[in-house]
Amino acid sequence: MKSSLTVHNSLKRGKEEFQPLVEGRIGLYVCGPTVYSDVHLGNVRTFTSFDVIYRYLMYLGYKVRYVRNITDVGHLVGDVDDTDAEDKLAKQARLEQLEPMEVAQKYTNGFHDMMRIFNNLPPSIEPTATGHIPEQIQMVQDILDNGYAYESNGSVYFDTPKFIAEKGSYGKISGRIVEDLISETRDNLKNQSEKRHPSDFAIWMKAADNHLMHWQSPWSVGFPGWHLECSAMSTKYLGKTFDIHGGGNDLKFPHHENEVAQNSAACNCEGARYWLHTNMLLMNGRKMSKSDGNTITPQQLFSGESPHITKGYSPMAIRYFMLQAHYRSTLDITDAGLQSAEKGYRKLMEANAVLQKLEYSGKEAVVEADEKAVLESIQGIHDSMSDDFNTAKTIARMMELSSYIFKFKNQQLSINVISKTTFEQLQVVFKEFIYDIFGLKDELAEAGGGNNEVLDGLMGLVIDMRNSARANKDWGTADKIRDTLKELKIQLKDGKEGTSWSVDK
Ligand code: AMP
Ligand code: ZN
Repeated sequence: MKSSLTVHNSLKRGKEEFQPLVEGRIGLYVCGPTVYSDVHLGNVRTFTSFDVIYRYLMYLGYKVRYVRNITDVGHLVGDVDDTDAEDKLAKQARLEQLEPMEVAQKYTNGFHDMMRIFNNLPPSIEPTATGHIPEQIQMVQDILDNGYAYESNGSVYFDTPKFIAEKGSYGKISGRIVEDLISETRDNLKNQSEKRHPSDFAIWMKAADNHLMHWQSPWSVGFPGWHLECSAMSTKYLGKTFDIHGGGNDLKFPHHENEVAQNSAACNCEGARYWLHTNMLLMNGRKMSKSDGNTITPQQLFSGESPHITKGYSPMAIRYFMLQAHYRSTLDITDAGLQSAEKGYRKLMEANAVLQKLEYSGKEAVVEADEKAVLESIQGIHDSMSDDFNTAKTIARMMELSSYIFKFKNQQLSINVISKTTFEQLQVVFKEFIYDIFGLKDELAEAGGGNNEVLDGLMGLVIDMRNSARANKDWGTADKIRDTLKELKIQLKDGKEGTSWSVDK
């Protein structure tokens, strides 16, 4: 039933069947956050997309080593390899009057909190750039030894024209040409004079006197180029050639192109065999971005305190909102979109709760058309996820099946129209896809689990108000409270000990 996996490989600019390098195992590397400010929802979208990909690969039976780094040095403001450019972290450290490592720790903690809130699994290894300086120095040395870099005034530059002349390719991922690299770096006039060609990029940078983060190296006291860290850490933990490398599509150029070039120049190896790129989260039709302030924070989204939305949304409703789009499509945050996702999320969770409680009793009286339709939808769920992790189509299939489930519940349709084995398959596929693959949690049921003080307090208040209404024979108010709670799947039970409440799963 599980279908063979097809992925969109940016290297080939098309879909192809996925074949791991080693049977049964997958090495997956994803570019992690630059920890100089709070993580924004665009980042959350990318990491959630890869979380679902990671979960699905494990579901398919692979043993996955998932490496996601923390960029805590080397990523410069404006991403230019100019010795005058300031490290994003160092700049924030200066603004917040903190040690650079304090900045890194603060925002790494915040990033981890956010990953937990959105129920993203931790990676198998989370290496930091500052923890891998020797590996990066070694890689610079290897590239130098192979003749694809040169030293100039304490900095080391990648020799792009030589690489292209001898290796023949640059720009496979992005389709961008080396002239683009020239225009990207044209503004950093200062070190243009150190370069042999304007398209060369720094892999080691000599630190200016006021540069906060620097290390001893054979060339100068300096720091590694941003692109280098991912080449060094991915190959250290996953091997010189490995399966999948991922990141947002804004990293295709120059970050990933330069990674590919560095890997090839350092060891004549191909690096990642499949490159997967997520598309951008937009707000008001524009890329959500830290650098130009077009962002909404997750906290604002939870609390509703933003001019862009009319109310707050829960993390799982937001996760569902993200899953409703395929990872390679853009996704524009709108209030209406979030509202409909919230409804969809609740409907899916409710359908599953109903399904898991339904009992298949009685004789089979299979109606061929229904049996076929349900079986096709179940197969469709597997096929859609295996078709380049198309969560949008997978959810649509599950919604088709939810309509069946509600008909069974309301006895509009006898459950016996499908066979017992199909019914059991349906139960399993819902449970596995909702929890294990989509990583959704049942927020309402969890909130009723007893350890949510706020909810307990609120429910105590609501129950008191209802009791007072009843004491005053204000049946209208008392009934309204009970009915509204019922709509929210909260049941009240009046007993000798008073009124208790529970969440109807
Ligand atoms: P950064 O912390 O800026 O290095 O970004 C971390 C990850 O989030 C990278 O893979 C980026 O490509 C990705 N990313 C940044 N902005 C967005 C966005 N608006 N939508 C989706 N992913 C994004
Ligand atoms: Zn990277």
